[in-house]
Amino acid sequence: MVRSKLQYCKSCDSYGLGPNCKVCGDVMVSSAPLKYSPEDPQGKRRRERENAGSDEWAESLPSPNEEAGE
Ligand SMILES: [Zn+2]
Repeated sequence: MVRSKLQYCKSCDSYGLGPNCKVCGDVMVSSAPLKYSPEDPQGKRRRERENAGSDEWAESLPSPNEEAGE
């Protein structure tokens, strides 16, 4: 797997390529790939579109314990 060459400048709080920041010239550090945000700003909208929470929505969910009983 190819490592990302995305670098991060702590001084500018910005991302870029190359060993040094183009803005301030400070040394850039390797940046981890952007992570999925658990806050999911689009989540609310998506759940509304899927009518999450309704009986219909609940029926559509997979039920791994369906045959396991209680
Ligand atoms: Zn910078």
